[in-house]
Order: sequence, then C-alpha cells, then structure tokens
Amino acid sequence: SLTWHAEAKTDLGDIAVYTDEATVEKLSKDFFWYSPVLDAKLKDKKADAIFAPRDEREVEAALAFAFRHRIPVTVRGAGTGNYGQAVPLEGGIVLDLSGLDAIAEIGDGYARVQCGVKLGSLEKKARETGQELRIYPSTFAKATVGGFVSGGSGGVGSITWGNLWDGNVLSAVVYTMEERPRRLEIEGRELYDYIHNYGTTGIMTEVVVPLAKKTDWMQVVAQFDDFEDAVRFGETLARNGDIPKRLVTPIEWPLPSFFKPLEKVLASGKSVVFAETADGTLPQLAVLAAAHGGGIGHVIPAEKYRKTIGLSDFTWNHTTLWALKADAAYTYLQAGFDPALYMEQLRELKRLFGDELLMHVEWVLAGGRLLPNALPVVRFASEERLYHIIATCRSIGVEIYDPHTWMLDNGGRGAVNGMQLRKSVNDPLGLLNPGKIG
Ligand code: FAD
Repeated sequence: SLTWHAEAKTDLGDIAVYTDEATVEKLSKDFFWYSPVLDAKLKDKKADAIFAPRDEREVEAALAFAFRHRIPVTVRGAGTGNYGQAVPLEGGIVLDLSGLDAIAEIGDGYARVQCGVKLGSLEKKARETGQELRIYPSTFAKATVGGFVSGGSGGVGSITWGNLWDGNVLSAVVYTMEERPRRLEIEGRELYDYIHNYGTTGIMTEVVVPLAKKTDWMQVVAQFDDFEDAVRFGETLARNGDIPKRLVTPIEWPLPSFFKPLEKVLASGKSVVFAETADGTLPQLAVLAAAHGGGIGHVIPAEKYRKTIGLSDFTWNHTTLWALKADAAYTYLQAGFDPALYMEQLRELKRLFGDELLMHVEWVLAGGRLLPNALPVVRFASEERLYHIIATCRSIGVEIYDPHTWMLDNGGRGAVNGMQLRKSVNDPLGLLNPGKIG
C-alpha cells in the first residue's frame, strides 16, 4: 500500500489525500458505537487513506485511480450513520465527499444539490425561498444529502411525506466503479437500486430532492399520566387531516427524564407527545389532548423555530442519544408495528420486558399507509439477550429492522436482489464498500 500512497500524491493532482493517523482514524468511524454489538466488531477497522475530492471531476479521477490499483472505496458524508455503513471493513480509501457542498439550484418545488450539502443548510436556504425540505433525519444539522439518501430512511416530515422511497428523491447523478467510471443520471423506479445502498452500487455526486411549501411550525409537548393515552392521542393527531404536521412522537416515561436540556419544562412522571404542527393549531391540540386524558405542557412558538433547541432533537434516534448520555448501557432497536394490532403488541412487550424496553413511536406515511414505527430504547445485557428480544418481537408480528448489523440484507429496506444485480454491472470488481451487501 505504500506504493499507491506515493503514486497517489503524484497521480491524483490536486485531490487532497490524508494518511495521518488522527484524520484516518476519525474519518473511518461513524456512530456504530450506539450498538455495543457493532462497537466490539468495528472499533479497530480503518482506512489506509482519506481522499477528499472537491468536485465531480476529482471524484471520477479518484475512482479511476482506485480501480486501477484494485483498492476498496468507502464513501463518507458526515459519518452520522448508526450501522457502521461508512466504516471501511477492508481498509483502502475512505472517499470523504463533504467537500462537494454546493447548492446548484433551488427551483419551484425542488432543489438540485451536490451530495455533500448539509440538510440543515439546505433547509435554511429553502426556507428563504418560501419552501422547505419534505423529510430529514434528526441529525439534519450535520448529515449530508448524499449520506441521507444512501444510508438513511426517513425522519421529521415522514408523517406527511413518507420515507426516502416515497417520491422523496427525484433524481441522482451516480458514478460507477470501472476502469472508466460512467456518469449515470438516474430517476424514477431505478432510484431504488441506489437509495439506502451504503454506496455499494455507485457513488452519488448530485441529488435532486422535492421541496414542500414552507409552513410556520410550532412545537408542542402534550403530556399524559399514561403512555397508552399518549399513544392514542398521537394516532388521533397523526390521522387528523386538518392539522398540518411534521412530527408526532409519543414518548414513554422515563425517557423524557433523560432530556436534560428540557428538564425545567417537562413534568416529572409524565409520558409525552412531541409534535411539530402548523402555527395556530394549539387550540385544536388542546382539545384533542384533553379528550385523551392529558393536557398541553411546554410550547415553543413558531417565531422561535430553530432559534432554540428543537423538540426533534429528542426524537427519532436522538432519543437513544439522550438515553446513552444518561447511562451507557442503553442501545436501541428499529421496529415496525402492525397498525391494526399495535396497542396489543406494545402491551405484550411491556408485559414481557418491562423497562428493559422503553418506547417512542414515530408515525410514518410509508407507501401511502400511516404506520406506527418505533425506535425502542433497550437496556443492553448481552448480544444473546438482545437477539432474544428481537426474536420475541418478530414472534408477535412486530417487524425488526436490525440496527446491530452492517449488512444491507438485514437492516435495509430496498430490494437487495436488484442492488446485487446493479452492483455486478456498476462495480464488477466489488470494490465499493466491500462486505456490506451479501
Ligand atoms: P454517512 O454516515 O456519511 O453515510 C451513510 C451511508 O451512505 C454510508 O454507507 C456511506 O458510505 C454512504 N454514502 C454517503 N454519501 C454517499 C454518496 N454521496 N454516494 C454513495 N454513498 C454514500 N437516520 C434517519 O434516516 N432518520 C433519522 O431520524 C436519524 N436520526 C439519527 C439520530 C442520531 C442521533 C444519529 C447518530 C443518527 C441518526 N440517523 C437517522 C442516521 C444518520 O444520521 C442519517 O441517516 C444521516 O442522514 C446520514 O447522513 P451522513 O451524511 O452522516 O451519512
């Protein structure tokens, strides 16, 4: 590998190449440590070098170089993924694309951006034009558009707009890993071979995402003595077509006790629903909350949107982050409940596991159906116990998208068969993020 380092310096022109220990170490990791299972298996993996291209031409040159030398390439956006997606299992090059950060165009109903643009910056720019992102992960401040499309699934906004697969990517420019990398323009159904692909079937340099009309969002905490009441209120609100919304997250006590920055404004012992709804909808929410045996607690008015810590910073997988800050023994699962049976399923899991599993529900309009997904926070005892919990969930009809594996086959939602076929054409030597697709 020393030879290709030397050659890289001359052969690659202006592309920034880093081989120092600190940079390599830092850019070889993502947030896999949320999983004690992955942490044990991935903490020592690292790249031989980091390449940081600044434009498409440099990406193409880096890929051609890697192909010529048969070097594995693992792409990195911001490295906030949780499954070790961005960890180079077989070393080689980590291609840091955070430098491709130009917003090319914000049009009427869409934005065309380079892959390294941060979702938070794009949302800010879009709002200046009277528009906003449809969906984004709770990590939007740091996460990149390319990383979200290639390694995420959904988040804030998914209650109205669905996941990545629900028309939330319009097109993408993709490079293949061949002697002469091809530049593909992908749209429509073919995007399914690239969405949530972990960079295994091609490298996305540019993405077009749809934008929604801007709404002024207020943030509301509704509070309940009983978690089931919180969940029922959540469902009623989720299904209410008159209240525009971005977020509806019922959260079981004691999870709110972990939210230190909100300590002063959350009532002790109460389960909550964190909601982002259109400005002016507070009276409707108050009526709904009362009808479910609860009431309105803390409210962040629309004028304060993004000017204080937001409620979404405690939802989606941020809930796990706050739990981990309170106690390093926590980890999490990703669960899909049956919309017709979910209350019984929640009750059964509570009966079997008590506080070993703490629930928060994330409503998602996936494939046109409103589904109660959840990211249960789990008190970790052992890998064996974790897989016992997973097996139990599956045995009562709760789907688990296992976040304790880096394999696309187990954790992903695209059609992996199609991806394998695409990969054999686009990456004939299997150099793109090896070991992630079975
Ligand atoms: P990275 O982690 O850098 O990359 C993700 C994957 O995509 C990797 O496999 C990488 O190789 C590949 N990749 C990156 N860029 C490209 C590219 N241009 N072309 C091809 N492949 C590429 N995810 C959600 O979906 N919803 C959430 O609400 C959510 N909440 C989170 C909360 C916390 C606290 C944390 C730590 C994570 C959360 N995540 C969530 C996971 C993650 O933050 C998001 O999916 C995020 O969008 C990933 O973006 P990134 O730029 O960090 O990607």
